[in-house]
Amino acid sequence: MKQINITAKIIVCNYNELNSAEKILIDKAKEATFKAYAPYSKFQVGAAALLANGEIVTGNNQENVAFPSGLCAERTTLFYANAQYPDHSVKSLAIAAYTNGDFLEKPISPCGACRQVILETEMRYNQAIRILLYGEKDIYIIEGINDLLPLAFGSIEAI
Ligand SMILES: [Zn+2]
Repeated sequence: MKQINITAKIIVCNYNELNSAEKILIDKAKEATFKAYAPYSKFQVGAAALLANGEIVTGNNQENVAFPSGLCAERTTLFYANAQYPDHSVKSLAIAAYTNGDFLEKPISPCGACRQVILETEMRYNQAIRILLYGEKDIYIIEGINDLLPLAFGSIEAI
């Protein structure tokens, strides 16, 4: 019997420590929150993906009265990116959330289903996706989905 310890690397910084490309991507994710369709949760999430061709695509959560029919901002964004630009990998993804008249102080992290889709997008293009999780106080930078989804379905051999 043995124990495996899994560690995750997360860089914590604030907005002023980001480079201009990172600031732009965060700004786009924040802007996207305002176009969310979240009449039920009132929790508006925005995401922005920077593609290998330099294009930035954005998305947000799209809710539905039949709850499982809605979709998170991350998957809305990645599916749109993959649908419109199937030949270009996703280099980085920024995520922000707005509720009760403010952006969250602490970063919001993708749900399990979105983590699985981020993983698949990394595998599809053989390109790690740099993830920027926005909070008014702290921003978390994660260099790839492995740090958010250890022991992922289909990736056990990576350990
Ligand atoms: Zn999600």
